[in-house]
Amino acid sequence: MWIGIDDTDSPAGMCTTYLGAVLVRRLAQAGLRTIGARLVRLNPNVIHKTRGNAAIAIEADGDPETGFALATACVEELAEFDDEKTNPGVAVASVRPPPDFYYAALRDYCTVDEAVRVLEAAGALYRGYKNRRGLIGATAAIASDLPDLTYELLAYRKRPLWGTHRQVDAASLFRAEEETYPHTWDTVDRENSVVVGVPHTPDPVLFGIRGESPAWVKEARSYVRSEEPACEQVYATNQGTDAHLIPGSIATLREGRSYLVRGTVAEAAATGPGGHVSFLLNDCGIDLRCMAYEPTKGFRDVVRALVPGDVVAAAGSYKGGSLNLEKLGVARLADAARIRPPVCPACGKRMTSAGTGKGYKCRVCGERSREPETEVVERRLRPGWYEVPSTARRHLARPLARGVPGWEEIVLQSGRKCNQSSTTSIK
Ligand code: ATP
Repeated sequence: MWIGIDDTDSPAGMCTTYLGAVLVRRLAQAGLRTIGARLVRLNPNVIHKTRGNAAIAIEADGDPETGFALATACVEELAEFDDEKTNPGVAVASVRPPPDFYYAALRDYCTVDEAVRVLEAAGALYRGYKNRRGLIGATAAIASDLPDLTYELLAYRKRPLWGTHRQVDAASLFRAEEETYPHTWDTVDRENSVVVGVPHTPDPVLFGIRGESPAWVKEARSYVRSEEPACEQVYATNQGTDAHLIPGSIATLREGRSYLVRGTVAEAAATGPGGHVSFLLNDCGIDLRCMAYEPTKGFRDVVRALVPGDVVAAAGSYKGGSLNLEKLGVARLADAARIRPPVCPACGKRMTSAGTGKGYKCRVCGERSREPETEVVERRLRPGWYEVPSTARRHLARPLARGVPGWEEIVLQSGRKCNQSSTTSIK
């Protein structure tokens, strides 16, 4: 059977993944074997989310009625029902629903009624609490399809410590990353010397280690020194896979979805208030503002190094009419030139502008010239992929540590005609 759960936490506490870890143990106590546990991230732009829009699914052997009774008991005991935004959902199916609903919840928006239709069609047992919104995530989790997947080991705190300062030795986390990178990632941000895998919120998570296999996350975990965890759970997950990205074109973007688009830099980057950096990307005559916010730190220097004419692929969420960058693929660099008044051929002094459209004039000897001096500037930027640092990375964004995205063909298609469709699949 597949057991899905979502929407159990609030900013004040709890975490659906912790509830999943507890359920795995209660299933075992009841003699039901867990085959696998999934941590599924859904559309990161959904406004109802508490933190990272996570839902969980557990695949287990046994009778769905028993699974359902244990899952609902866990939710009723542990979910943060007092928060008006906590609306838990539990779904148990002996046959997995088709993956369409998962893809819709991952890349788009869904309703509770749509989730209920999927659950009814699958003959599932389900219960939605309060406004029942959690049924969306619970259904998406049991319908999830992970053609690419990573793993996260989550260690949870003992209950009396919830809400207190976490005792995790930062040096041991840096060591864990050093010893296991690139097989694990985002435990720390070495570029900015910041710990990433230890939350600051009052939930039960002590730390998380992300990596390419259960063996690698356990290897990294073995270096971590911390307060004694209550329990640990390894989840298979769609984190770090870019599963949320829709290959798109600038003309067809819809608010609240995440895209991979191509275009030509139309206007160089400008730094605005708060250190946020933006530039204009153009495709087929339509401009898109691309944003690199202040928390993306050094990534903003990549954006600042772009010049008009550069051909790039940009990945990120389309929100408020701009694309919030997660990753940038520089496909082709334009020649960058510095244009200035020429040196006077007669007296060797630098000429000055003679007025708009009137060329240049030497203030010393009166010589005139129509052509400016054009100096080719060496580009600092190199073609290739650039990403935001670990501290600013979205859960779903695929880190370059996992290899360069398989999108080269999309980037290289940058010379395509504007009337060609751009529905290439990224699966
Ligand atoms: P938790 O740890 O409790 O899961 P969270 O940050 O993951 O916290 P939730 O509290 O689960 O966020 O809130 C997200 C809510 O949005 C859930 O009710 C979920 O069912 C719903 N939801 C998720 N994806 C979509 C979607 N694509 N369209 C509409 N609703 C969605």
